[in-house]
Amino acid sequence: MTDSEDLPRKVRFTRRLLDSSSTPRISILDIALLALTVGLAAALVVIATKPVTSTTRLKTTSVLEHKMIWTTLGTMSGPIPSPDRSQPANLLWNNKHAILVDAGDGAAEQIAKAGHSLSDVDTIIVSHLHIDHTGGLSALIGMRYQQHIPGTLTIYGPPGTRQVVDAIVASEKPLLDLDAAGNSLVAQLAPSKVAVVEIIDGEKFSVDDLKITAAENSHYGFEPGTANYKAYQSLSFRFDMSDRSISFTGDTGPSDAVQALAKGADLLVSEITDPDAELASLKAERTDIPFIAYPVLKKHFEVQHLTADAVGKLAAGAGVKSLVLTHNPMPDNLIPQARVTITKHYDGPVAFAKDLDNY
Ligand SMILES: [Zn+2]
Ligand SMILES: [Zn+2]
Repeated sequence: MTDSEDLPRKVRFTRRLLDSSSTPRISILDIALLALTVGLAAALVVIATKPVTSTTRLKTTSVLEHKMIWTTLGTMSGPIPSPDRSQPANLLWNNKHAILVDAGDGAAEQIAKAGHSLSDVDTIIVSHLHIDHTGGLSALIGMRYQQHIPGTLTIYGPPGTRQVVDAIVASEKPLLDLDAAGNSLVAQLAPSKVAVVEIIDGEKFSVDDLKITAAENSHYGFEPGTANYKAYQSLSFRFDMSDRSISFTGDTGPSDAVQALAKGADLLVSEITDPDAELASLKAERTDIPFIAYPVLKKHFEVQHLTADAVGKLAAGAGVKSLVLTHNPMPDNLIPQARVTITKHYDGPVAFAKDLDNY
């Protein structure tokens, strides 16, 4: 028997991940749905994984010491699919529950690659309702239905989450009808359930002993007083446990509220963007977008996402102990300069996350 064979399956899995190296990907944008076809972006984390490279290693001790492990399941900024990196999704594992934080397309497969089953995930927390953060919800809910996974999947998210989830649940009726008609034994199983809890700026809630605080950020940029401003919020989160705290920006531009939320956190998982890289990628992908739209798009990336300069100021202003970057559209050759820019403001450890990194 090896040292690891008496460990739980997921711990062995995690240890393998910590010992493995993964290959980076490319870039992209996060076209959103502003007037024309805008984009969004973001990025996250990294922890003590990878074979030692001083530039990416945040700490020298194993992340398994922590009660709460943050796994960057998907580190690409959306919503253009990448052949190398999955869409935004993260897993927070506290040894009891695997909590999915954002659910971009491909999240179910990334959960499996991280060594978990879908039945481990009973909580999903959504930061905002752009499709690169919600595209995996339909598969996650449908797979639970078809497997008859017992219990309730609780989905927390900002206003509008209920509308999204209700539509997905309604779309599953043919699946449930076929399931029931095809196998009378299956029809006798209790159905999987889905619950939605909508949360807003300032809300606090708990999952076991994990305490979560939400704060509205500056990602949406609606004009105050408009209907959309009143109806929707993009949220950042802080996760507090007894041994560490993690703050997660979601998608945001510079924001005093996000900085206050992250104050003193052990780890800040932040999005990052490069407006020029985003635009170059968008131009290559969508040649039909008129040049006149480029200044508008560039401003979106500069104001409603975080450049390397803005990330450095955020991490320094919040006084966080370490920084992990995800929702990252940059090709690898741009990362060294981004790191230099960040460290002009922030002198703590910085890591650019890859899919399935653990922190
Ligand atoms: Zn977004
Ligand atoms: Zn995004």
